[in-house]
Amino acid sequence: MKFEDYRIAEGIKTSISKLGYKKPTDIQYKSIPPILRGEDVLAIAQTGTGKTAAFAIPILHILQERKQNSRPDGVKCLIMVPTHELAIQTESVFQKLGKHTKIDSFCIHGGVDQAPQIEQLNKGVDILIATPGRMFDLVSQGVLNLKRVEILVLDEADHMLDLGFIKDILDLMRHIPRKRQTLFFSATINEKIKKLAYSLVNNAIRIQIAPEDPVAKNIDHAVAFVEMDDKRFFLESLIRDNSEKKILVFVRTKLRAERVKSALERVNLTSDSIHSDKAQSFRASTMESFRSGKLKVLIATDVSARGIDIPNVDYVINYDLPEGLENYVHRIGRTGRGKQKGLAISFCSLQEKKFLEIIEKNLGKPIQRIDISDEEYNYTLDISQDKVNDLKSLLLEVEENELKHKKRKGNKKK
Ligand code: AMP
Repeated sequence: MKFEDYRIAEGIKTSISKLGYKKPTDIQYKSIPPILRGEDVLAIAQTGTGKTAAFAIPILHILQERKQNSRPDGVKCLIMVPTHELAIQTESVFQKLGKHTKIDSFCIHGGVDQAPQIEQLNKGVDILIATPGRMFDLVSQGVLNLKRVEILVLDEADHMLDLGFIKDILDLMRHIPRKRQTLFFSATINEKIKKLAYSLVNNAIRIQIAPEDPVAKNIDHAVAFVEMDDKRFFLESLIRDNSEKKILVFVRTKLRAERVKSALERVNLTSDSIHSDKAQSFRASTMESFRSGKLKVLIATDVSARGIDIPNVDYVINYDLPEGLENYVHRIGRTGRGKQKGLAISFCSLQEKKFLEIIEKNLGKPIQRIDISDEEYNYTLDISQDKVNDLKSLLLEVEENELKHKKRKGNKKK
């Protein structure tokens, strides 16, 4: 099946071919026809499978057909997503695919001034992509009317539940017409998700993509046993050996993100980090510079990285192992997007072996090991440009700096 064979507007086909999509991915093949027929869909699919276009293509077509003889009188399609980044990325997919249609797509999210968002809503928006918090605010203020919504999409519903958005979502349902088409997407499924799904969808078509192996076939992923304090040397060595590659490094906390960034700075390697403590404008400019390839190494936490679509990430490094399969799949799904090949390497310390066991148990198979001989291991530590390569001297340096800082403050007071 080719996109040419679908009964969708020519303008959308032009955009699809400009994006370089030749054939529909699995999820697109399975979802586009029922969505075009107006059916509700409940799809279990991870990011990286092409799921955004799987709903964007038919939605744009449906709204384009309906718009021929109707005036713009409110939001027709509402897409709820868990994070700012996913909102921006989804908007960009809609804008690219809808370039040759008369459909206006727009995204709203928190963390930025709401006035320009309200201004744009007043001008008329057909497709609104939004995070639940900001959307709830605007509806409560009476500046966003959802009475004309015909299609509702919940994307990454499992992540929305994790972030505690359930109440916002259910409250918002009171503002959306009951008679509508609902498309529900989640990377994983459990009892809670099922309950939410069945409260929203009606006789949905169920689509499940590769449930046995949640890791896309085109991603090679492996684990290397590296002690916690040695991880920075292995990251340093990996970055030096692959200086032209785009590398996304995952860490467990914001603090760790900053520490890894400093450790790389000490050895003259440039990187940047995104996490929720950073202002939205910083996050957006960091993402842009990573997307354009100017920035080669990006350090991220799970929350900040949900929904990021960065084409051509060559390597994903799990600097810290995530605690479960879901985050593991989401993280490594950042490489090998669409039909490209991807590579993901996880650093696993002694303390993290329990997480590895959980991941492998849920994955149903072992993850490939990278054997590092003692010689290689020691060599990696030896060649590091980090002058302070043992933890004790590092701590001593921190203590000395603090002492100097206190002295300086004391001197100033005097
Ligand atoms: P998603 O799962 O929506 O995050 O999409 C993952 C990536 O796959 C994005 O970079 C898309 O541009 C790409 N993609 C989506 N559909 C196709 C397709 N039919 N052929 C090739 N790449 C695609």
